[in-house]
Amino acid sequence: MGAPEAFTASTDITHWMGGQRVASSGARRQAVYNPATGAVARQLHLAETADVHAAVARAQTAFPAWADTPPIRRARVMNQFLALVNQYKDTLAAMITAEHGKVFTDAQGEVMRGVEIIEFACGIPHLLKGDYTDQVSTGIDNWTLRQPLGVVAGVTPFNFPVMVPCWMFPVALASGNAFILKPSERDPSPSLFMAELLKQAGLPDGVFNVVQGDKVAVDALLAHDDVKALSFVGSTPIAQYIYEAGARNGKRVQALGGAKNHMVVMPDADIDQAVDALVGAGYGSAGERCMAISVAVLVGDVADKVIPTLAERARALKIKNGMELDAEMGPIVTREARDRIEGYIKLGVEEGATLVVDGRGFKVPGHENGFFTGGTLFDHVTPSMRIYQEEIFGPVLGCVRVPDFGAAVELINAHEFGNGVACFTSDGNVAREFARRIQVGMVGINMPIPVPMAWHGFGGWKKSLFGDMHAYGEESIRFYTKQKSVMQRWSASVGKGAEFVMPTAK
Ligand code: NAD
Repeated sequence: MGAPEAFTASTDITHWMGGQRVASSGARRQAVYNPATGAVARQLHLAETADVHAAVARAQTAFPAWADTPPIRRARVMNQFLALVNQYKDTLAAMITAEHGKVFTDAQGEVMRGVEIIEFACGIPHLLKGDYTDQVSTGIDNWTLRQPLGVVAGVTPFNFPVMVPCWMFPVALASGNAFILKPSERDPSPSLFMAELLKQAGLPDGVFNVVQGDKVAVDALLAHDDVKALSFVGSTPIAQYIYEAGARNGKRVQALGGAKNHMVVMPDADIDQAVDALVGAGYGSAGERCMAISVAVLVGDVADKVIPTLAERARALKIKNGMELDAEMGPIVTREARDRIEGYIKLGVEEGATLVVDGRGFKVPGHENGFFTGGTLFDHVTPSMRIYQEEIFGPVLGCVRVPDFGAAVELINAHEFGNGVACFTSDGNVAREFARRIQVGMVGINMPIPVPMAWHGFGGWKKSLFGDMHAYGEESIRFYTKQKSVMQRWSASVGKGAEFVMPTAK
């Protein structure tokens, strides 16, 4: 199997239900672009409420048999899927680059981070082991087990069309649930390819389904009684909406939102290493990562050492079609997103920040209609500016100057987002204090993008996550299962007569 036909032949991108492609019941379509050329590449079917109902019905039908399948056999399907994703990892990466725009090598890295979660899910028999207490009372045992929820859904953002769905469905499926994925409408093709690979891996039809679409599809999932849990990753306003609407409808919800990640550079840091980190984490994937660094917090005299080199590096970025192997940065996902980012640059100038490098109007020869912008660098950004407060989600790095470590911590803790953060220092005590005092969910010490490994779980604090369970890792096993406690007593060990007092251990 190569790239799926719908991808290479530039035909429609449909839904996936009951183990096959299914067209929308309605006529709504949305163009999917190649951001490097600006050309329309495919047409996406947008689900109507009836399509979501059909997908949920398929999933609900498939659920009981899948839930009854022994975990070791579910793990074997995951193992087959793992082998197939590894076999087609470059196909998946090329699909990501074609619709998202990120450079191919970065897309390969994204696929591998997804692979790690599938590897984690392959350990499901061990992860689902319950606990058991022999003889909690004379002749009585007590144990707990975890059972799947039923039909669960995932709604994912454009910026990781393979990795973020993989934060959800491998663990949900391995735990015995049926899954409905609603991917981003900007880069939906990998979702269908992964559905095909799951089928080829032996997953029974109907256990994994994809509904393509927009708010109509999401609202239908939120309203459906048979959808027991919803995992969301995307921007903060939508995360909050999903969390509130899902909770109102009695669902379990984990909703990961936006970010504004700071990187502190202490005067004792290795400056070259810090500059490399700022360039890679600020401009990698064109800043369209929820763990991108968008604010450099430069302590003491660091700014004067760092900013000239940073400016030079931002101007020298190799920005081109992401399929060219020496590209360091590709285009922005859509024209609207590019215009929004460039609007923020204009705003920053109006707000009084110093525009050191201006990426606006960047053109790539031969790709004049692509959605490109250059790397942008601001100095003298202050907390009262909107370019400091709001998520720009583009290759715009703002530098804030602070006098000391305490001011850096105070600045970060006052921000409404708390996804990722980093501190560059050569002082172990500073590093330790930073990790303890910072009000952010994921912390890097001399590492700019501390995305936790598959078995640790991913999640921010404050407005970067609504709900109390992080994505993947052991918390995701808890999220996708419900605990049951069983107590047993057999007649040979039971005394006669009714008991009217609250039972206690005897
Ligand atoms: P988005 O919020 O626009 O869209 C995310 C999903 O929600 C998509 O599937 C979309 O179709 C759906 N959606 C959009 N508007 C909706 C509405 N009104 N009602 C219901 N559903 C709606 O986000 P995006 O632009 O695709 O992705 C970028 C955002 O995602 C950034 O804010 C980024 O920080 C965030 N993100 C966060 C994490 C994290 O782990 N915290 C990871 C990746 C991306």
